[in-house]
Amino acid sequence: MSLTLQSTKTLHNGVEMPRLGLGVYKMTNRDEALNAMTTALQVGYRAIDTASLYANEKEVGESVRTSGMKREDIFVTTKVWNTDQGYDQTLRAFETSLEKLGFNYLDLYLTHWPVKETFKETYRAIERLYDEKLIRAIGVSNHHQHHLEEIFAKANVKPMVNQIELSPRLSQYDLRTFCAEHDIAVTSWSPLARGGLLDEPSLIQMGSKYGKTPAQIIIRWHLQHGLIVIPKSVTPERIASNADVFDFELSLEDMKNIDSLNLNERTGADPDNFSFNF
Ligand code: NDP
Repeated sequence: MSLTLQSTKTLHNGVEMPRLGLGVYKMTNRDEALNAMTTALQVGYRAIDTASLYANEKEVGESVRTSGMKREDIFVTTKVWNTDQGYDQTLRAFETSLEKLGFNYLDLYLTHWPVKETFKETYRAIERLYDEKLIRAIGVSNHHQHHLEEIFAKANVKPMVNQIELSPRLSQYDLRTFCAEHDIAVTSWSPLARGGLLDEPSLIQMGSKYGKTPAQIIIRWHLQHGLIVIPKSVTPERIASNADVFDFELSLEDMKNIDSLNLNERTGADPDNFSFNF
């Protein structure tokens, strides 16, 4: 069946997660954030990706409540920040996030980064919240294969999602393959390489062939690779155009051409070497 803005990925526990969502990192201006989230929901987005770090969970909850849609029709993800990790701390951080969102359950909760000393205990707390039915699906972010293997050794429930940096410049082929083998859905963060790929001549050229912008070409590449994609924009026209990617299909040859842009180049930190303890 062809993809639409309503298309979902069935997670390994049967929960349906929208394939395209709005990322809301760096949306700290209240009016700008509310405007972006409301625009996205009006355009037809059904998922918002936030985190306690982004300091806009309150606005996410508000935009859901004022959308006129049912709570259960919108899929919200948030994440436990590094300094809140550990078993008890994670339980408390979750309560705070839920309160800020103003929800009585969450769709997806993720460990933001695998803090070496605490990420396994963090995941154990997330599992407990899942058992208590406060979260519909659980997962991790920025986990390499070896982090996932350490989680598997202790977990009762495998993560349903791994949210990782992924773009044509960092195609993460090996980790994607590993996740597919373990039925873990992959979400691409910084899918547009934070805007840094939009001047790439081959994408501009390809875009003119399909009558699409480079951003639309890249978002479509993620979708055709079976990924969940969460481009961020505060600009209403971009929010709409980033979702206007369901009326064309990249050829296999063009998919390969975009694959060949991979340089294993990160815009963010390597999960084996980060220090975001603020
Ligand atoms: P993106 O790759 O989504 O790029 C966002 C940038 O691209 C913004 O500057 C935006 O500008 C610009 N942009 C968006 N659409 C267009 C367009 N159509 N044309 C031109 N420019 C465009 O980067 P992010 O880092 O924000 O990643 C997306 C989401 O992933 C985040 O918002 C967050 O939810 C998640 N994330 C998760 C992380 C993790 O550790 N788990 C880490 C980083 C991000 P403007 O807003 O001004 O329109």
